[in-house]
Amino acid sequence: MNHGKITLAKFVGSLIGTAIGDSLGAGREGFSGFKKVREVGTRYTDDTAMMIGVAESLIQCQGFDGEHMAKTFIRNYEREPWRGYGAGPPRVFSLIKQGVSWDKAAESIYPGGSFGNGAAMRIAPIGLLYWEDREKLREIAYKSSRITHTHSLGAEGAALEAYAIVLALKEEPKFLDKLRDFTKLEPYKRKLESVEKLLDRKEDRKEIVAELGNGIEALNSVPAAIYSFLANSSFSEAVVYAASLGGDADTIGAMAGAIAGAWWGVTEIPNAWQKKLENREYIEDLARGLWKMKEIKTY
Ligand SMILES: [Mg+2]
Repeated sequence: MNHGKITLAKFVGSLIGTAIGDSLGAGREGFSGFKKVREVGTRYTDDTAMMIGVAESLIQCQGFDGEHMAKTFIRNYEREPWRGYGAGPPRVFSLIKQGVSWDKAAESIYPGGSFGNGAAMRIAPIGLLYWEDREKLREIAYKSSRITHTHSLGAEGAALEAYAIVLALKEEPKFLDKLRDFTKLEPYKRKLESVEKLLDRKEDRKEIVAELGNGIEALNSVPAAIYSFLANSSFSEAVVYAASLGGDADTIGAMAGAIAGAWWGVTEIPNAWQKKLENREYIEDLARGLWKMKEIKTY
């Protein structure tokens, strides 16, 4: 591996990694108790479906366009409504279809905004495209969140996950320091301190979940995904670990997979898993599309 060099294999790894982590965790979603799963399910869920929508829209528009991205989510949802979407997105989609603006629909459904992990779970393509400019990355992560998640904790979770993917692309040695420096919100800073404190305690899953969470809130799942990556030393260990935390396992798996795939690259993702993954070639094509944009730089 080329340490520190950003490669196509890392781009592909982050998107395929999202889908593998999602498929792996999908069988565990909502289960209590800890169990290691090593089999990738035959289906990915809404996490990957929406990540695909983010990538499609970024490529088609050669950059971020909120209305286009929202409409892409809606089109993909209508084609495959059975992907396990939560209750929120379909309600947002129906308002947008009725003419409500893409950046106003979500907040009209949730007073104060949703702080779920739905914006973070789909963020990988934004991390890949905006890796060079931290503040631009933050801005686009926040804007893309607004389609469904307007609460600051939901948007910050998406920005933090995107930045973790950037640090993984670069194989940044001071990973946690950089993340702590990046986040503007105290609750996330505190969680990242817990991540550091618990790094050598990964076998005590009960404590990990008690401290970091494994729920559907961004604050209770993005740190767990970051932890799953940092506490393990290969792609497969990281995603198996993430899925084993239970709770919102598909999303924690997807987010850990996006980071781990960006660090180790697609070549380190077990072939047996890749073979089972639905739409693997299409997901790789999307990563290639983002890679080309990186070279052209018109976004
Ligand atoms: Mg899901």
